[in-house]
Amino acid sequence: MTDDELDRETAFALLADEIRVRIVDELGAATASPETGIPRLSYADLKSRVDVRDSGRFNYHLTKLVGNYVAKEEAGYRLRWPGMVLYRTLVAGLLTNDGASDLGRFPVGTACHRCGDPIEAHLYETLFRVRCWGCDANYTDIYFPSHGLTGRSPDELLRAVHRRNRTVLASMTAGQCPWCAAAVSAEIHDGDDDLPSLHDTRDLDAYVVYHCTDCTGFQYVPVSRALCYHPAAIAFYHDHDRDLTEIPAWELPWAVTDRTTTVRGADPWRFSVRVPLDDEALVAELDERLAVVDTRREPNA
Ligand SMILES: [Zn+2]
Ligand SMILES: [Zn+2]
Repeated sequence: MTDDELDRETAFALLADEIRVRIVDELGAATASPETGIPRLSYADLKSRVDVRDSGRFNYHLTKLVGNYVAKEEAGYRLRWPGMVLYRTLVAGLLTNDGASDLGRFPVGTACHRCGDPIEAHLYETLFRVRCWGCDANYTDIYFPSHGLTGRSPDELLRAVHRRNRTVLASMTAGQCPWCAAAVSAEIHDGDDDLPSLHDTRDLDAYVVYHCTDCTGFQYVPVSRALCYHPAAIAFYHDHDRDLTEIPAWELPWAVTDRTTTVRGADPWRFSVRVPLDDEALVAELDERLAVVDTRREPNA
């Protein structure tokens, strides 16, 4: 069977055995070769690591994996890309959510931009939330692999969540789904509708939904948030000796509220977003695709 002929059901069925999962695990965990960067194991080494006495049984399961998941080469066995994806999925805890349960609510060190209560972080099933419980304003809602939660202090965790959030939204605002690589379009909604999350009652004049129709990848944000990923805003912060890419969105009132956003038109949508920083403000004009069509700087009164 060639790779092209392998259907989804067969690909899943080939993994349906504990020994096969252990083989993938051991091949992934083996030390990578300095020459190729790819871990390889000899037959004997692999067998001993997987710890199966019965050679016939070990052979049987290894043979099932060779092809789609594992390559057999002169230098030894190694994971092929689907095997590596599986290994990384196992390590990230995407299938098992291990280690995620004991994370309680903790403050992020910023006051709510609407009511002034402390903004807090919280893990809801697999979603990492940064929100205000006082007024139900949700500032960040992002899937975070459980492996990344372990062994981190609250500050380290918040930085990691910010990084993850930024990676996902940078991809979506650039028009590509971070999970399946399909095209993502930006759809602007009137804020009179309820927000997509029941846990978010922010009163926004408009918000943008990024939605992958192929894999259900989904994020919504105030329209001003798109600027977080735009060179105009990044350069503006850089000119003020600040790195915008390092600042979590929940610390940026202009990005998580629409307090400094003006709706200039609804058909087509036009927005003007004011980004205040120190003694200066960046004003960016956005079109219906949230492309920046004009910018200017003015004193921050
Ligand atoms: Zn609040
Ligand atoms: Zn997708």
